[in-house]
Amino acid sequence: MPKTLGMRCRECGEEYPLSPIHVCELCFGPLEVIMNWEEIAPRVSRKSIQAGPPSMWRYHDLLPVEGPPCVGHNVGFTPLVKAERLGKKLGLNNLYIKNDAVNHPTLSFKDRVVATALTKAREFGFDTVACASTGNLANSVAAHAAEGGFKAYIFIPSDLEQGKVLGTLVYGANVLAVKGNYDEVNRLCAEAGGKYGWAFVNITLRPYYGDGSKTFGYEIAEQLGWRAPDHIVVPCAGGSLISKIYKGLNEMNRLGLLENGVPTRMYAAQATGCSPITTAIQTNAEVFRPQKPNTIAKSIAIGNPADGYVAMDTVRKSAGWAADVTDDEVIEGIKLLGSTEGIFTETAGGVTVMVTKKLAEQGRFGADDLVVIAITGNGLKTQEAVQGHLGAPVLIQPNLDALDQALQTDKLLQVV
Ligand SMILES: *Cc1c(COP(=O)(O)O)cnc(C)c1O
Ligand SMILES: [Zn+2]
Repeated sequence: MPKTLGMRCRECGEEYPLSPIHVCELCFGPLEVIMNWEEIAPRVSRKSIQAGPPSMWRYHDLLPVEGPPCVGHNVGFTPLVKAERLGKKLGLNNLYIKNDAVNHPTLSFKDRVVATALTKAREFGFDTVACASTGNLANSVAAHAAEGGFKAYIFIPSDLEQGKVLGTLVYGANVLAVKGNYDEVNRLCAEAGGKYGWAFVNITLRPYYGDGSKTFGYEIAEQLGWRAPDHIVVPCAGGSLISKIYKGLNEMNRLGLLENGVPTRMYAAQATGCSPITTAIQTNAEVFRPQKPNTIAKSIAIGNPADGYVAMDTVRKSAGWAADVTDDEVIEGIKLLGSTEGIFTETAGGVTVMVTKKLAEQGRFGADDLVVIAITGNGLKTQEAVQGHLGAPVLIQPNLDALDQALQTDKLLQVV
């Protein structure tokens, strides 16, 4: 029996055969893969997972692919680190960072969704993959396409950071820089998908792609000793990651893998300059209003999020909340994480750190609650954001006198 049975509309429940489709024909709701839990449950245990590889594929049984991965064998199982010094600053005694800034191979959580989507693309028989990206997805699709011998067409907004553009070109993909924002890129790609028959990983294959993010949640729980945390703060772009983390935790619980059920409250983090999801949550709105993005946090600058409603629903169901922060705060957050924990995150991480600070100041976490923050990307890719905000090295001649002199100036020893 296969692990996957078909697809179901999240809104109206209409069912479809397993295929590369992503929206319901009746109501345009997002489709989800129906997993064959009767088949899967008997073979999954803590032991079976622990016997797996130190990668996201230790959860292969819970992912919507049938065969072994065709790319990305080493993706995932990133460090979960206790953040003592940042925790102290925020008044949190049990703060943890799930650090996908060091995810293999392209240094963001997107490697999880791409490894899943490309494995499914091959199972469906596609030889060409594509994506509409705010940067990290571009890097990851290009890299994994190279590894798997797929042809790749990558669509990005033309104003992306250099590191993200170079970090796509280096893998030999066809890169198309579209003169427009992400939402315009996405609209073009939705049309191109129909015309050229390519597998757009985050459009055509979105239900499979999204489920790759469940592994971010599985890992947090396993790494905490098979416990779901009290709170998780997650940066939101299309709104998929936050909902799939929660879905993953609930699946683990239903399989009897967790000690404590799922007490977890989910918190959405966005930049003020592109905050359709957090604005809707904070104003208790039924619908979110699409926005025109204007923020340095480009990786999460999606004005019309495909899974916006799913993200809102996840936050409400879990009794969580949301907050957004300005671009100045994003820079402050990057510096705060770097100087307290030695982790260099990209702009999305700056958002998450400062949103966590804001939520802590609002009294949403108990001092001893277990709080996990999702650091989803690497700072080396968004250097423009902090350029000019970090000071400069103290320039000296190569002798001890010069060093002595330099040490006497108060430019040095500015320990945070
Ligand atoms: C894509 C991305 C996100 C958000 O992902 P969604 O699933 O679209 O909400 C968060 N952080 C980084 C760094 C990303 O690249
Ligand atoms: Zn429907």
